[in-house]
Amino acid sequence: MSANIVPHNSTVDEVFSTFQSSEAGLSQQLASERLSLYGKNSLPLAPARSAWKRFFSQFHNVLIYVLIGSGVLSILLQHYVDSGVIFAVVLVNAIIGFIQEGKAENALRTIMSMTKSQCMVVRNGALESIDSSELVIGDVVMLQAGDRVPADIRLFFSKDFRCDESALTGEAQPVSKRITPIEGNVPLAERKNMAYMGTMVTYGLARGVVTHTALASQIGEISNLVGKVKLMQTPLQLQLARFAHQLTIGIIVVSVLTMVLGIFIHQYALGDMFQAAIGIAVSSIPEGLPAIVTIALAIGVQRMAKNNALVRRLPAVEVLGAVDVICSDKTGTLTANAMTAREVYTASGGYRISGEGYKPEGLIKSNSTSESVLIDHDSCFTQACVIALLCNDANIEHENGDWLLHGDPTEGALLTLALKHGLTVGSLQHDLPRIDILPFESEKRYMATLHHNTLGEVSLMVKGAPERLIDYASHQLDESGVQPVDKTQWLAMTADYGRRGMRVMALAMKRYNTKPDTLSHQEVESNLILVGLVGISDPPRKEAIDSIKMCHSAGIRVKMITGDSPVTAAAIGAELGLDVRRVLTGQEIDNLPAAQLSVLVEQVDVFARTSPSNKLQLVEALQKNRHVVAMTGDGVNDAPALKQANIGVAMGHKGTDAAKEAADFVLTDDNFSTIASAVREGRTVYDNIVKSIIFILPTNLAEALVIFTAIMLGRMMPITPAQILWVNMITAITLALALAFEHPEPNVMNKAPRPFGQGLFTVALLLRMVLVGVIGATIVFELFAYYRNNGSSIEYARAVAVNALVMIELFYLFTCRFLNQSVFSGHFLNGSQPMLIASAAVICLQLGFSYLPQSQQLFGLVSISLDDWLKIIVCTFPILLIVEVEKFVQRKLNNYNVKVAQSAT
Ligand code: ADP
Ligand code: MG
Repeated sequence: MSANIVPHNSTVDEVFSTFQSSEAGLSQQLASERLSLYGKNSLPLAPARSAWKRFFSQFHNVLIYVLIGSGVLSILLQHYVDSGVIFAVVLVNAIIGFIQEGKAENALRTIMSMTKSQCMVVRNGALESIDSSELVIGDVVMLQAGDRVPADIRLFFSKDFRCDESALTGEAQPVSKRITPIEGNVPLAERKNMAYMGTMVTYGLARGVVTHTALASQIGEISNLVGKVKLMQTPLQLQLARFAHQLTIGIIVVSVLTMVLGIFIHQYALGDMFQAAIGIAVSSIPEGLPAIVTIALAIGVQRMAKNNALVRRLPAVEVLGAVDVICSDKTGTLTANAMTAREVYTASGGYRISGEGYKPEGLIKSNSTSESVLIDHDSCFTQACVIALLCNDANIEHENGDWLLHGDPTEGALLTLALKHGLTVGSLQHDLPRIDILPFESEKRYMATLHHNTLGEVSLMVKGAPERLIDYASHQLDESGVQPVDKTQWLAMTADYGRRGMRVMALAMKRYNTKPDTLSHQEVESNLILVGLVGISDPPRKEAIDSIKMCHSAGIRVKMITGDSPVTAAAIGAELGLDVRRVLTGQEIDNLPAAQLSVLVEQVDVFARTSPSNKLQLVEALQKNRHVVAMTGDGVNDAPALKQANIGVAMGHKGTDAAKEAADFVLTDDNFSTIASAVREGRTVYDNIVKSIIFILPTNLAEALVIFTAIMLGRMMPITPAQILWVNMITAITLALALAFEHPEPNVMNKAPRPFGQGLFTVALLLRMVLVGVIGATIVFELFAYYRNNGSSIEYARAVAVNALVMIELFYLFTCRFLNQSVFSGHFLNGSQPMLIASAAVICLQLGFSYLPQSQQLFGLVSISLDDWLKIIVCTFPILLIVEVEKFVQRKLNNYNVKVAQSAT
């Protein structure tokens, strides 16, 4: 079908006839025939990293190198049990990391494929939005600023249309497009009547016909793969990697030193000291940490995806937990975006409209007569509806009993109003065809179209923000015709609608006897005739009100940034529970000195009539005040602010492709509550990683101290190096791992965000290491000494000591489930299935280790009595109590600090 023409050489008509299409697009039927014949318009996903590569990459880590080195050394020393246990931990750890990383990669891949893009297409003569993968050759597509071009397209209409084609040509400067045929076999960059798949529309508006899809497109020919997922290293992972390096060096130094001192001071045998040094090194290495961090992140990503937040950049997951300001759009994010026109004002009176949603049924009553209003082409109201309908790109469809909107909700509300009044789209568009358009831009805040009638008269129709259009107006329309404008009256009505929380749109026009060449902003911005005001209700989302409360109790400020008017913004803000004592407008922001902005940005919650560049100013001002900012956005021009924000959040539905690509997160439901719940997950991920560290480091220290101290003091080792290796293995692959799966603590959203830039390794952690390491090792020593003094055999005393060490870790694990709260606070076992499974596994393994004859022989153990088990439990349980006391003191100190800080301010 496409073989015999070169689209950029051909005229539009040739292209249409080749593809059996027209400006009215394909029929739905032809489109689905072509779809099944030629296949979907999507590029195949890049294959995942090969399993082998992923498996071997698990070993690429200093910690593991040291373990492998120790294993090899043990073989050379003929300590086969030791090397067996060491290699087992390396292998199991690699398998766990392998499986979990696979899951994480898959999760991210699925998420990539979930952020599909939509496009506007004309089918059966009507505009609708479809999934870009369903485009076929011959489809007529509408493109506007912010879209990623969904296929290769021959343009037949272009209005200030510019594309960033760097993805294809490497040229960063956007290219202006036109529609006339281009001669010759020129390079891509010069085929200015084409828009190519994968490039980005930076400005303007165009329509065109699809000439190539999927692999046949230019980008398909260059690289037929998309969606290669790279697991980026997060700041936390990098910090841990650095820590691992330093730790490894430290561990090796300490082990070697111990060995040397043991030999020279206490005259131990070289072989024994080697074995002991390996025991110290291996047990103090936190080999499970990298896998735990990956798992915690992967679980976070999956939980967020389930809650409609798709992660585009992994590092953002960690940062989320530190967010202390969320700047959100109003329309559609904090409000329901279910826009309904409720009231209309014209110079000849006010009107009330009933009905819900986009269903074009409802009564229109005049305020003065309370009678239903009928179509009357001379009336201002009908004229207002004509503008509402024609200066409009939305489309409403009746599908399975539902009235569905394709396009912008504000426009949907206006279209519905006109339909309720009895106007019909087809006949009006036929009588008054559109000859030019200025699309809506958030900087200009209006949209204008140019129409002519059969008599050749031309009229300009414009809709937009009232204060702008009132400013541009010289006249108004009333029953007697065109009169000089009474601006005070219009402004008063605008304010009245705004105070009642309605979004206000003004409708205006201009008539010409001779057609102006084209529609320019200059043309729109003078001598308008005001026709009407429409009050559109868009109530706050109920769940947004609750989420804002939750954010406030979590120490997170919520700021509403909107293009809407200050009056409307304040009314909606108040309903949402924001501080509306002061509203700052975009204009004020532009004129404020930086110092004052940085003060005001702290005090003000509501920002109105803002432009995208104001968003960037606000993010920067907040960040200068050391806030960690999440910012939402949907337009092309929001991309810089999304990139600048610590967390950029794009809207899945109404967001442009440009915004989605700049963002760290995409919300599939465009809902503010989703951001709040993602913050909760982000905090949980971070907490779980901290919990794992808080568990692993002190217990590793305890293990290492047992051997280290024995050698230093020249005493008999209470636990042999081989036994320590065993303890290290089973706790590392079970207990520590379980913490990565923990559910959010009940109070995660009742505490302040973690200070940004706070490292993982705090004084509190150091204290905890000393506390648990020293007390743990002491308990082990004392128990061993007690049994030896009572005449037990060395084997028996060691069996008691090694089981005591495991029990200490088990009890300690349970206190680690809560960072600050007490384990006795009533949530003791809430949602801790992985924890229970891991504990049960450790107990089973430990029983096997202690009682199986083969194991007893390998590790030099004998069976211990039930009585002694009770003693072990009685002696090890206090570790839990001690740590709880420490947490209690910490809590009191924190409270005290907070009180001091409060009384200081
Ligand atoms: P919001 O922050 O509420 O999403 P927008 O940037 O979408 O604000 O809109 C800002 C203002 O621009 C609106 O208050 C309205 O006056 C005007 N406006 C919005 N959508 C359109 C449109 N499709 N056509 C003309 N004007 C519009
Ligand atoms: Mg908007």
